[in-house]
Amino acid sequence: MAGETAFLELARLFEALEETTKRNEKKALISSFLKRLGEEEIQPAVSFLTGRVFPEADPRILEVGERTIWEIMKDNKQTLLIKKKITILEAMECFNEISKMKGKGSRRKKQNLTESLLNQATSLEKKYFIRLLLGEMRIGVVEGVTLGAIADTSSIELSLVIRANMLLGNLGKVAKIALKRGIEDLKNVNLTLFQPIKPMLAEMSYDLEEVFSKHEGQTGFEYKYDGARVQIHLKKDKVKIFSRSLKDVTMSIPEIVELVKKQINAEDALLEGEVVAYGTDNKPLPFQYLMRRFRRIHQIEVMIREVPLKLYLFDVLYLNEELLIDKPYNDRRRLLSTICKPDLLVERLVTANISEAKDFFEKALKHGHEGLMAKALNSDYTPGKRGKKWFKIKPVETLDLVITAADWGYGRRRGWLSNYHLAARDEEKGEYLNLGKTFKGLTDNEFFEITNHLQKIKTKENRYTVYVEPKIVVEVAFNEIQKSRNYKAGFALRFARINRIRYDKHPENADTITRIRELYEKQFKFKAKLENTSLKKDEMKDK
Ligand code: ATP
Repeated sequence: MAGETAFLELARLFEALEETTKRNEKKALISSFLKRLGEEEIQPAVSFLTGRVFPEADPRILEVGERTIWEIMKDNKQTLLIKKKITILEAMECFNEISKMKGKGSRRKKQNLTESLLNQATSLEKKYFIRLLLGEMRIGVVEGVTLGAIADTSSIELSLVIRANMLLGNLGKVAKIALKRGIEDLKNVNLTLFQPIKPMLAEMSYDLEEVFSKHEGQTGFEYKYDGARVQIHLKKDKVKIFSRSLKDVTMSIPEIVELVKKQINAEDALLEGEVVAYGTDNKPLPFQYLMRRFRRIHQIEVMIREVPLKLYLFDVLYLNEELLIDKPYNDRRRLLSTICKPDLLVERLVTANISEAKDFFEKALKHGHEGLMAKALNSDYTPGKRGKKWFKIKPVETLDLVITAADWGYGRRRGWLSNYHLAARDEEKGEYLNLGKTFKGLTDNEFFEITNHLQKIKTKENRYTVYVEPKIVVEVAFNEIQKSRNYKAGFALRFARINRIRYDKHPENADTITRIRELYEKQFKFKAKLENTSLKKDEMKDK
């Protein structure tokens, strides 16, 4: 009966999908499952399949982490003997409720509801509920396979399905339209103003030769500003602004809203740009402060004075009722320049000359920006896709740090020590001071190998964490060094990721707190520091 499909059947599909590596088999399995679903079940089933319970929201919205699952599972003896059937719709409803719990006592409430779901579940369902909660499905279903399955099941051309997905950014919705409403409705899927679309993304490149060869000659280089990406939707006097994660941030940046209203000469438009916070001497402020500004919705007036923002536009995707994503980047940029003054546009250089490009890169760094973006002149805009049509070029900085402890993983990483506490050497006291944790960067084999290694050098442990002698050195890439009161070192790494394990390095060769401090200060060579502003006070409160 429609709407009655059991989650258990979906869990069995997940098992089957995990067992095969063959793309066509995966596609056939998904396709035959989709055929059996009622209209309302398609969207949640497809979202579960792709591991994104809420495709349009921040994946952390459920806020049920490894520790909560651990708490529930550690002495979970209450598992019911007679299981009640949980339908796909009921499972979705439960996830919805968990996501809505906010404020005081919500942690406990989330835990209770998760516990009651897991208690009713069979062990197979439990396995996949946990993976969904932790955002770690890993059943080898890439988006492409699901898109193919939707096309096969609905007998609609794959290119149409892909296009609809780019515009809607929600595979579940696409599946529902394709399977239940048909080709005409799918063709009519268009960008809807005030509904954010997924941003196009760039691949990293360290090599200008690569950029020129992939872009076949001339490339459009733009400053890569160290700000926050914004997607601006406007129609007449109405403006809405969304962040990189598609959150509505209109309220936090009213001066940008005003600027857009006054300075963009268009009836309606969807624009993309970067908002940068400026400090003293007209230098950009580090990202950390800009993010606080983005989260603020109180005392905005003070903020506008103390942390002025600047907008740099780099793309236009929709203009005066016309969708522009299929037009070449160079044409879009030209159109953009017709609707605003040049000082609102990102700094750009079109060249085929490597030394000109290098000079432009140096200039960007000197002005406190992150590096360059390189955009193929003839490239269309592919929402939600990371590819070589856009490259990002920035200097890489790595640190050699020592592992001082590791947390046990859960879900897919169960049984492995997989979240590593990273420390730098305090050369005066001879201590190792932590700067952050990461579980990113290692392969499964490395997880396995390092777990064995760490257990041999264990000094103490508790339920979650194994503390070790500071012996293993890892090379760590990161985005930024931030001041932090959570660590004795006084600093924390933003977006740390292990590049490789440096068995060839001795802990005494690890980077020192002095170098961390130097690197922190170096960030300010071209960036402003915050002095005596409300944000500075926020920072002090954090300490
Ligand atoms: P990152 O962490 O490097 O900002 P990302 O995953 O957010 O990466 P990428 O596409 O990989 O996104 O890198 C481009 C990012 O750089 C954009 O998301 C945007 O925030 C920022 N940016 C700054 N200047 C530009 C520009 N001129 N054109 C496009 N993006 C820009």
